Amino acid sequence: MNRPELPRFQGRVVPWITPWSGGPTLPEPLVLAPGGRGIAYADEGVRDRTYDGVLLGRGRARRAPGGGGRPLYDQVDPRRQHHAADLLLCQICGRRPPPSPRGLLWLLPGAADHPAEDALVLGPPLCPDPCALLAVAQCPALARGHTAVRVRYPRAWGYRGVLHTTDLRPAGEPVQLPHEDPRLPWLLADLAVTRLMGCAVVDLAAETAR
Ligand SMILES: [Zn+2]
Repeated sequence: MNRPELPRFQGRVVPWITPWSGGPTLPEPLVLAPGGRGIAYADEGVRDRTYDGVLLGRGRARRAPGGGGRPLYDQVDPRRQHHAADLLLCQICGRRPPPSPRGLLWLLPGAADHPAEDALVLGPPLCPDPCALLAVAQCPALARGHTAVRVRYPRAWGYRGVLHTTDLRPAGEPVQLPHEDPRLPWLLADLAVTRLMGCAVVDLAAETAR
C-alpha cells in the first residue's frame, strides 16, 4: 500500500494523536446541561460529544499547515484519540491498519510477563510497519520494554476524564468510567478507553517481517 510521508519534527515522526504547541488551547466554557443533569459547553458544537453523548475535551486547535511550534509528545489530542479509538485507526499515521485474521496490533509498555487479556488501554492500535517500529524506536517508555499483542476483539469500554460537581468544578483526579456508568453526564472526557479481548502476545520483529 502506498502511504504518504508521516510528519516529522527534527527527524522524529510525530504521531497523528500528538498535539502541537503552535495550536492554542481551546476554551472549554462549562455550563450546566439543560435540566441540570450534567455538564455542557456554553458554545457546544456537534464535535463536542462522543457518539454516546459524553462531553469531550477540546484540547488544542490544529496548527496552521507549516505553522510553528513543536510536538507535545507527552500530551494526546482528545478528539483525535477518541476518533482513532472509535474507528480503530492507527495512532501514528491516523489510517486504518492492515487487517489480519489474528486481529489488530497494540503495543503495551512493559515486559511480556503480564497478561494482556482484558487489559484496559488508552492507546489506539498501530500498523506493524512502519508505525509500531517507529513507536518502539522513538518512544522512551516503549524502548524500555514493551509487549506486542494481536487483539481479535477490541471493545469500546468507556472514557477517562475528570468528574465535575454541580457548581462546575473538577471533582478530583482523573477516573475511568465504563459506558453504562450513571456519572458519565458529569465527566469531561479526555480519552476513550478500549478493552482488549482475544489477545495473543506476538514478536514485533516477526510481525513486521511477514
Ligand atoms: Zn499507522
